[in-house]
Amino acid sequence: MNYRRSIHWFRRDLRVSDNTALLAAAAASVEVTPVYILSEWSGTHSWTGAGRQAYLCGCLASLASNLSQLGARLIVRQGDALSVLAQLIEETRTEALFFNRDPDPFGASVEKRLQAWCKERGLGFHPFKDIALHERDEVLTASGSPYRVYTPFSKAWFALPKPKPRRRPSRLSTPQDIASLPLPTLAHWKLPASEGPSSLPESGERAARARLRRVLRDVIPFYAERRDQPAGHTTSRLGPDLRWGVLSVREVFHRVEELARECGSAAIRRGCRVFQQELAWREFYLQILWHHPEVLRSEFNPEYRGLPWEVRPRHFRRWTEGTTGFPIVDAGMRQLRETGFLPNRVRMIVAMFLTKDLRANWRLGERWFIRHLLDGEIASNNGGWQWSAGVGADAAPYFRIQNPWTQTKRHDPEGLYIRQWIPELKNVPSHDLWTPPAPGQSAGPAYPKPIVDHAVERENTLEWFKNFRARRNAG
Ligand code: FAD
Repeated sequence: MNYRRSIHWFRRDLRVSDNTALLAAAAASVEVTPVYILSEWSGTHSWTGAGRQAYLCGCLASLASNLSQLGARLIVRQGDALSVLAQLIEETRTEALFFNRDPDPFGASVEKRLQAWCKERGLGFHPFKDIALHERDEVLTASGSPYRVYTPFSKAWFALPKPKPRRRPSRLSTPQDIASLPLPTLAHWKLPASEGPSSLPESGERAARARLRRVLRDVIPFYAERRDQPAGHTTSRLGPDLRWGVLSVREVFHRVEELARECGSAAIRRGCRVFQQELAWREFYLQILWHHPEVLRSEFNPEYRGLPWEVRPRHFRRWTEGTTGFPIVDAGMRQLRETGFLPNRVRMIVAMFLTKDLRANWRLGERWFIRHLLDGEIASNNGGWQWSAGVGADAAPYFRIQNPWTQTKRHDPEGLYIRQWIPELKNVPSHDLWTPPAPGQSAGPAYPKPIVDHAVERENTLEWFKNFRARRNAG
């Protein structure tokens, strides 16, 4: 053993199995203090949504129970991470700090300050790779720079050997008498439970692992064909588990790899591959954020910085309420509010609608999503919004504007998804759900008229982009 006492700082790795830094802390120390630090954000913070925080509360409760089975106790503290850790280190006479690295610039800046603080005091400082299969500088072009386009990134990403899942520590012991706050509830963030979804997926490692088993059996075999159909359970819905690290990405990747190896079916193998490509998208956006933290403030593509987004609060409100008069958009926005989930295809449709039909700033949508999605994750969310707005890395070019009506015909032709979320349209013929209504009409009797005409807005947006580009090039 190298240390008598160390700390494992839990962040977005809320599990005991296959947790790189936790395992290393357990191997190197006689006693480990596992700590989670609650933010001091309140309900008004743009990243704090009731569903998201409620899910986090469930994950922490389950983590505390799993740690106690190993003989340890989760210590909950609140405040600025550096001050809280400094105090805890002194209080417990800790010799080393273990944690898994965070790609977001706020997390990374705390790590930097902590490193300096530990160095000054001669404490062990042990950051680990854990939340991604490959970290910031592992997947680079031949000239050593980060990729800006997904396809070559994913080729290089697939070519690298993947780290294997590890076991859980067999035992952990926490020093006695360390004060801890109680496990948080929504009240901690001053959030009313009524704001979040009425029900949440069960949280915790056991539930997540059961979900993964179901996904391998019922989703992956059909994933390549069905993942763009919004009705039904056609994608894994493992986003929140990956976001909070309740499952390790290594475990997810390798279980899928095993299925591909053992299934004996080309269709299932294809499902496995397409699913793994989505994990590569996750890492593509993580590395974009690692290398270009400025994307949280500005467009990735400098050509589009300064676009004069339009401000029409009434339109934005209708989008958030799911009353735009575009059935696929409204179904998505209602599902998001009610469940905290939205299928990828519908995320793209509602995001393009907001940015291309309403010409609203993508940041408004980015903020709305992060508050409402259970899997809200700043790298993928920012990447998805910039992609949809046509301003990001490997983005859809500005002139590719999805038509919500034809998207509906292609992906929800019988209106199964729309009818599930918009009861007013239950008895409307499918044809009316994917055909623009006549001027002044709506898709159904108790349903609003479209707030804009897609064909007209498409032309306006093309003009708007062209004018901006021309002005830029002239200036
Ligand atoms: P599956 O299809 O089962 O995919 C498995 C996992 O792969 C996902 O859980 C996720 O971790 C990853 N993944 C899948 N697609 C993508 C993608 N396009 N980009 C990055 N990772 C992907 N994903 C988030 O995790 N958090 C977000 O906040 C988020 N915001 C988005 C916003 C917009 C506007 C768009 C277009 C996409 C966004 N995505 C986000 C990506 C994607 O929509 C979700 O990851 C996916 O829908 C989650 O559902 P699932 O778990 O069933 O995914």
